[in-house]
Parts: sequence; structure tokens; C-alpha cells
Amino acid sequence: MLAARALRDHVDHVTVVERDTYPDGPEPRKGVPQGRHAHILWSGGAEAIEALLPGTLDRLCAAGAHRIGVKEDMVLYSAYGWQHRFPGAHYALTCSRPLLDRTVREAALNHPGTDVLTRTEAHGLLGDRTSVTGVRVRTSGGPSRELAADIVVDATGRGSRLRHWLTDLGLPPATEESVDTGLTYATRVFRAPAGVPRPFPVVSVYADHRSGTPGRNGLLLPIEDDRWIITLSGTRGGEPTADDDGFAAFARSLRDPIIADLIEAAEPLTPVRTTRSTLNRRMHLDRLADRPEGLVALGDCVVAVNPIHGHGMSVAAQSARALETCLSRAGGLKPGLARTAQQAIAAVADAPWLLSASQDLCYPGNKSSVSDPRLTTQAAQRQGFADMVTSASLVNESVCDALTAVTTLTAPLSSLETPEFLAAMRQPARPPLTAAPLKDAEAAVLRAAK
Ligand SMILES: Cc1cc2nc3c(=O)[nH]c(=O)nc-3n(C[C@H](O)[C@H](O)[C@H](O)COP(=O)(O)OP(=O)(O)OC[C@H]3O[C@@H](n4cnc5c(N)ncnc54)[C@H](O)[C@@H]3O)c2cc1C
Repeated sequence: MLAARALRDHVDHVTVVERDTYPDGPEPRKGVPQGRHAHILWSGGAEAIEALLPGTLDRLCAAGAHRIGVKEDMVLYSAYGWQHRFPGAHYALTCSRPLLDRTVREAALNHPGTDVLTRTEAHGLLGDRTSVTGVRVRTSGGPSRELAADIVVDATGRGSRLRHWLTDLGLPPATEESVDTGLTYATRVFRAPAGVPRPFPVVSVYADHRSGTPGRNGLLLPIEDDRWIITLSGTRGGEPTADDDGFAAFARSLRDPIIADLIEAAEPLTPVRTTRSTLNRRMHLDRLADRPEGLVALGDCVVAVNPIHGHGMSVAAQSARALETCLSRAGGLKPGLARTAQQAIAAVADAPWLLSASQDLCYPGNKSSVSDPRLTTQAAQRQGFADMVTSASLVNESVCDALTAVTTLTAPLSSLETPEFLAAMRQPARPPLTAAPLKDAEAAVLRAAK
């Protein structure tokens, strides 16, 4: 939807080809199965959506999404200890993924130059190795037909067949890197106990990736309609199960029982749902020596990262924004546009890819295929720096602010290498916290559960 918005001022007409159908309300749908799991939208992604579709954030909040101050409205137990709840400029939006999708979709499609072909599957590209001229589509399993286009944007997500479609055009396969920790997600939605303070904080208990044992995590997000979505996850050897009783027991096995205690206070509304679609995978389309004009890919199709860091939607949104910027700068669909846009999209995804892949390489039993020197020869040194900075950010407000700007995808990773940042690392810190930093009303929710 955001890619459609990025294109629409530069072309006569945009057609969105969608295999699925859209539900009337904010309901999960088959084509976005991950939509049943917790989705956090960091300010970097939220601002990109707002720039493309002004007014969307207000509409989301009016529909029940929560604006969460990062780290002010968060109770985080990281690998290094409890995080002080420093106030700051950065935020996250929390709501169900279906509500987010519906709100963005309504705004993106509210334009005469954009339409959607639902129940229609793209199954190949038209053109040759120098130029893509459209897509092959079929509706509800019917016969294949050709849809001509001056530009094709692949936004078909993790399951994209683009690599094969390119080789069908006679191009060499694009190189890929991957890191797979075997992370399994298990999610259940709850009714929050009556009278909980608003906004209820995001609560997160992270694994310690340095422990040499499988990583187990828990995340509670307050979402619309007084609900909590709780996602538990575990890497290979420490996976959660799909049964309702096992869910609470898994939460109790985390490094702190806070999420297990909150589960006891809440009323379950759904069964537990699981997914294993958590592999980090990057396709280097930007590096294809021979690449056709008229084709751009973005979102999970090009770079899918471990969802535990909550970066995928923000990367997709910033990539659509990068496409729009390239089109504006070029004055529309000019020769070379696709290559320039693909490079800009690769740049957007680089830091999230690196942050996620480098930490996941620490987990036992990971299956990786990486060639990036930052993830091979330099990996240990880079992870050591990340550990030092993240540990300092728990207690040092300036470091927290700078790191939060990076993790919300608001500032580049290089901002952590500046003299100003190194000076911030030397600033006085608060004493480490020894327990969860709960406000009185939040602590009362836990007390009532016990
Ligand atoms: C369990 C889980 C939790 C996550 N949590 C977060 C989070 O907290 N924060 C965050 O930012 N990100 C999160 N993500 C990542 C996020 O879901 C993705 O990054 C994001 O959805 C990518 O958007 P996309 O448009 O590339 O693909 P998708 O959102 O997957 O959309 C793909 C679309 O293409 C359609 N489609 C697929 N194939 C075809 C075809 N051949 N023809 C026509 N249509 C097709 C599908 O029906 C769908 O509509 C999570 C992911 C997972 C798996």
C-alpha cells in the first residue's frame, strides 16, 4: 500500500495485485499470517507512513492505537538488566497489525489513480534481462494473463518468488545471506484487567544472547479495545509450544516472571498461535551487475529480519519513502531509476539487518550463510561494542537517547561512532535498577494478580 502511494504522483495509474481478499474490519487475513502476532511500529517507521499518508497516525490513535514513549512507557528487562524509564523524543505505536493495515489501506486507496485486483496472484515477470514490462497474473486460479506496466514493485513479503522470476528472465541468481536461529513465536490475546492505567507500558523480557543457551523472550503490547497481545518466543532448543497451559508455563520460565504474573491478571480471548517465519534473510538485488529497468523490490521480499527487534514494518515504510524520494528527484520514471531506488532501499535495510543478524549469530544452533565481513571477521568486535553501548544505555540517559534514535530507525548506526556519542558514554550514570521500574498503579495490577 505504501509502495502504491510512493508511485502514484509519478505515473498515470497504479494497480495493486493482491492474492488475498481484504476483510471489512480490522481482522487478521490469510495473506499476512504474521498479523496475529505482536507488531510494534517504531517512530522511524511511523514518521515514514505519516510522510506518505498524512493524518494516518492520528486516525490510528483515534481508532485505539497507543502512542508509547520510548523508554518512558516501557518496562524492559534486557540481557544486561532493567532499563531506567528515561523520557525521550522517540515513540512507538502499538495496536493490532490488522488495525494498522486497514488504516493504511484506507488512506492509500483513497485516490482515483489507484486500484486493487484482489484474489489475483502474480506468478511471473514480463520482459527480458534488460527490462521488466509487467507481470503475469491469474485470478482465483483461473488462466494466466499479462498485465503491462512501466514499473513493477514486488512487495509480496517473505514468500516472494522474485529470485526465481529473475532467473526465468535469464538473469543470474541474486546472492542471498541468511541467519536462522529457529526462533518460534507463540502469541495469545488477552483482555486487560479492569482499571489498568493507560497507557499500560510495553513489557518486555529479553533473553541473554551471551549465555550460550537457547534464547527465550516475552513481549506484552497494549493494543486497541483494552486488550494485551502477548508474544513469547524461543530459539532452537527453547521453543514455546502451541498449547494454552504451556503458554503460561513458558512465560514463567523467562529470566523474570513479570509477564507470567500479568498473564494471571488477564482474561484470555484467543487460543495460542505459533509461527516459525522468523529467519533473517537478505537478497542483494542492489548488487546485480545486470539488472533490468522497470523493477524494484521492497519490504520482506528483499530483507526480512528477526521480528523480535520490531523493525520489518518500519524498514518497509522507509523503503517506500525512499522510492518516492528517488522518483521525485529523478522527475519520474527515468532510465536508471530502478537501480538508484534499489540501492536506496538496500541502505534503509542495512542497519536493521546488521543489528538483527549479528545478535542472532550468538545463539547456539543457528544456521547461517553470511559473507558480509561485518558478520564474519568483524562480528565479535562489533557485538562487543553493541553489548557495551546497550549496557550503558540502561543507566545513562544520553546514551539511551542516542541508542533509542538508532533502534527506532530515526538515526543512522554511524551516529554511535561520533565524538559526541563517545563523550556521552563518559557522562554520569544512574545506579542500576534491581527490580522492574513499575509506577504505583502498574505495581497494583501485579499485586492484584498474586
Ligand atoms: C511473527 C512476526 C512478528 C513481527 N513483528 C513485527 C513487529 O513487531 N514490528 C515490525 O515492524 N515488523 C514485525 N514483523 C515484520 C513485518 O510483519 C513485515 O516486515 C512486514 O509485514 C513486511 O511487509 P511486506 O509488505 O513486505 O510483506 P507482507 O506484509 O507480508 O505483505 C505481503 C502481501 O503480498 C501478498 N502476496 C504475497 N504473494 C503474492 C503474490 N504472488 N501475488 C499477489 N499478492 C501476493 C500477501 O497477500 C500480502 O498482502 C513481524 C513479522 C513476523 C513474522
